[in-house]
Amino acid sequence: MDDLDTPVLDDHLHLDPVNGRNTEAVEEFADHGGTHLLVLNKPSWGLGVEVDDADDFREVFDLTAEAVEDATAVLDGRAWPVLGVHPALISQLLDRGYDPEEARDLMQAGLDVAAEYVADGPALAIKSGRPHYDVEDAVWEASNDVMKHAFELGGEVGCAVQLHTEGGEDFTEVAEWAEDRGLPRERVVKHYSGGRMEGPVPSVLADKDELEVAVERAEPFMMETDFIDDPDRPGAVLGPKTVPRRVRWLLEAGHDEAIRNAHVETPARVYGIDTEATLE
Ligand SMILES: [Zn+2]
Repeated sequence: MDDLDTPVLDDHLHLDPVNGRNTEAVEEFADHGGTHLLVLNKPSWGLGVEVDDADDFREVFDLTAEAVEDATAVLDGRAWPVLGVHPALISQLLDRGYDPEEARDLMQAGLDVAAEYVADGPALAIKSGRPHYDVEDAVWEASNDVMKHAFELGGEVGCAVQLHTEGGEDFTEVAEWAEDRGLPRERVVKHYSGGRMEGPVPSVLADKDELEVAVERAEPFMMETDFIDDPDRPGAVLGPKTVPRRVRWLLEAGHDEAIRNAHVETPARVYGIDTEATLE
């Protein structure tokens, strides 16, 4: 096993206990020096769950919580679930005959359940956002309402919110929506981010060029693969060993401070987790 002598956190990865590599992917991460994972539930449809009421999300969340327990068993550190509702669900619901308001209500109710898993259970944070593709105005508005609801819940239960959104580098307005609802911008994470980001904290896709930008910028950031654990799309995303490999690459270039930023300090600020104390 590679020991990088530091906690190594992948801030956003999926595990699929039904069809994916699941714990085997975690072993690959650990073998390369990875120690901590934030495991995002796959979209409900990705797990074959058709949602029609809030309780239907429990099946999705429980599968993810189970995968996290198995992951923790093979890590020197540990894994935590990040649970929520994928923003693209709105399009699936519209296709199934929902109107935007009905879809919004169901998605917000799903987030209520996710917040319950944070308040009483195993989850660390909530995931929300808005479509990364063009949608009609009514759908955009409903999606923003869903995201604002996630901020409200984050403020209430005191947890971070990870966002899946369109691309871009300026999400100041979104960070302000969060702050208006009691959630500091330091606890809003833009998943699948480039190295530059205004507003939320960037969770930078582990691409060398983008990481160099983030390192140079020297602001709080984290690293992720967005590994989707989908056997039908093996090359579609970065593999589970990518974050540990990039950590090694940055350490070899002398960027110890940036590694401490991304794997110890920023996770502590954003999520309140201690990646050093939770390391065996
Ligand atoms: Zn993802």
